[in-house]
Amino acid sequence: MTDCLRCAACCVAPDITALGKPLGQRCPHLGPDLTCTIYDQRPAVCRRYRPDELCDRIAAPTLDERVQNYLAVFGLVPPSRLDGEGGQGG
Ligand code: SF4
Repeated sequence: MTDCLRCAACCVAPDITALGKPLGQRCPHLGPDLTCTIYDQRPAVCRRYRPDELCDRIAAPTLDERVQNYLAVFGLVPPSRLDGEGGQGG
């Protein structure tokens, strides 16, 4: 079974309405060691989450790589990246 600890991709990649967390932005409750700093008070959406085959699909050595893999699986592009695109046309 996939171990959920210290991956943290799901604490960064998806938007989480219950936390007011936008797509692709790090949850403010994610600690530097990639564990949840409000674990006992985390919202229901986080409590319901269970690791599955997606975890293996997005596995990578760094958090940034895992987040990018997560976003790519769902075809998602964070607004900050959209802002940085364009302007190369002629
Ligand atoms: S509240 Fe905790 S488990 Fe939920 S996204 Fe934030 S850091 Fe992750």
